[in-house]
Amino acid sequence: MSFRLYNTLSRKVEDFVPLNPPNVSLYTCGMTVYDYTHVGHLRKYTNDDLLKRALTYNGFKVKHVQNVTDVGHLVSDADEGEDKLEKGAKRTGQTVWEVAKFYEKHFYESLDQMNVLRPDVICRATEHIDAQVELIKSLQEKGFVYETPEALFFDTSKLVDYGALSGQKLSDKKAGARGDVVVDPNKKNPADFALWFKRVGRFADHEMNWPSPWGNGFPGWHIECSAMAMKYLGAQIDIHTGGVDHIAVHHENEIAQSEGSTGKHFANFWAHHEFLNIDGTKMSKSLQNFYTIEDVIKKGFSPMDLRYLFLTAHYRQKLNFTWEALEGAKRSLENLRSKLSGAMGGGGSVKKDAFVVALNEDLNIPKALAVVWDGLKDGSFGYEDILDFDRVLGLKLDEPSSSVKKEIPGNILVLAKKRDELRSQKKFVESDEIRKQIEKAGFIVKDTSSGTV
Ligand code: AMP
Ligand code: ZN
Repeated sequence: MSFRLYNTLSRKVEDFVPLNPPNVSLYTCGMTVYDYTHVGHLRKYTNDDLLKRALTYNGFKVKHVQNVTDVGHLVSDADEGEDKLEKGAKRTGQTVWEVAKFYEKHFYESLDQMNVLRPDVICRATEHIDAQVELIKSLQEKGFVYETPEALFFDTSKLVDYGALSGQKLSDKKAGARGDVVVDPNKKNPADFALWFKRVGRFADHEMNWPSPWGNGFPGWHIECSAMAMKYLGAQIDIHTGGVDHIAVHHENEIAQSEGSTGKHFANFWAHHEFLNIDGTKMSKSLQNFYTIEDVIKKGFSPMDLRYLFLTAHYRQKLNFTWEALEGAKRSLENLRSKLSGAMGGGGSVKKDAFVVALNEDLNIPKALAVVWDGLKDGSFGYEDILDFDRVLGLKLDEPSSSVKKEIPGNILVLAKKRDELRSQKKFVESDEIRKQIEKAGFIVKDTSSGTV
């Protein structure tokens, strides 16, 4: 059964065939580390995690690369306004380097709590300046670059296909939509974007800067992803992901830079995640309408409650965050755990295929979750089956819920041992009786292939 995924490029769900099976190269745009990671980000990176886990479940060997944007991302995606990192430094009174370090740590620690598997390669823009300069040089040799007193720009009119991902025409692009942003008057076309900013004019005091053939300065935001994706995964990659906000500018520009430089098709699949909203608006750092994982925990929820909430919506659908919805997710997860404690052994059935069918049809996790519930209710799934599905769901179903984690008292351990002995003597009626006693005391015993837990 093949894995199928929606491709923004073709606007269709397509069969996924990697360039070099069973290997899959996966690049996911990372965070701009100038403020706290919020629950909206956690949804995006949980969805990346689900994709990666689903690919692995299907037998693929995924190499996952993710960047950390620690320089060059300006307040407006169209390369206008100030650098977000410098903005963070002003806000907190720290250096840009301290800001980047602090928020990167918060990002990965938040993801660890969400049981999001770490990428194989985590690469910081500031540690890959050489690769970015080399890429700009190669674009310059091919005639895609022009220089102004303030910056080096990519000339989008030189690329026939520019705009294919978002389906925009170059003439639709408007520069400086907001009144407070500074636009370089030397830009030739509104869609042209900066590859390198010189440390002059509005950036004369830019804290992060490096030497380059065009003078001291710093890279634009988009070039980092092209340079690092190609450095670690090669000129052509299987899947590139990001939020839907990346389609129109950031990803168009990545394609322009990568394909302009190599002449090869850059990413075969472009997968984009929808937002987590709050009160109908995108949860975002700039609007300050966000909650962090710490806020969620303070309210008495576990990160797995939040993960469960994310699993209930398809990655291409918006999801509105409310505490009531999280409360519902928490109850469902508790319910799932308690149903699971009653499930025996490992069944395996046609229903297991239904889980894979849902998973493989554009990562339909809500449907896969519904299959899990159906199979638990009608008894067709056992404990082993559910743990196997949890390789994708990542709900840590083999661990007790954090809210009920407690020491196992000695008398319960004695009962569990007795039950084991009875089972080894095939005295199942008696052993079941003991199981009931254990459960009455608030504990769960499970028989797994590696023994009793
Ligand atoms: P940023 O560092 O702001 O570029 O965000 C990093 C990633 O998180 C991007 O792929 C965004 O699309 C994504 N993101 C930001 N806010 C949200 C949100 N409210 N819901 C889902 N994804 C988001
Ligand atoms: Zn990116």
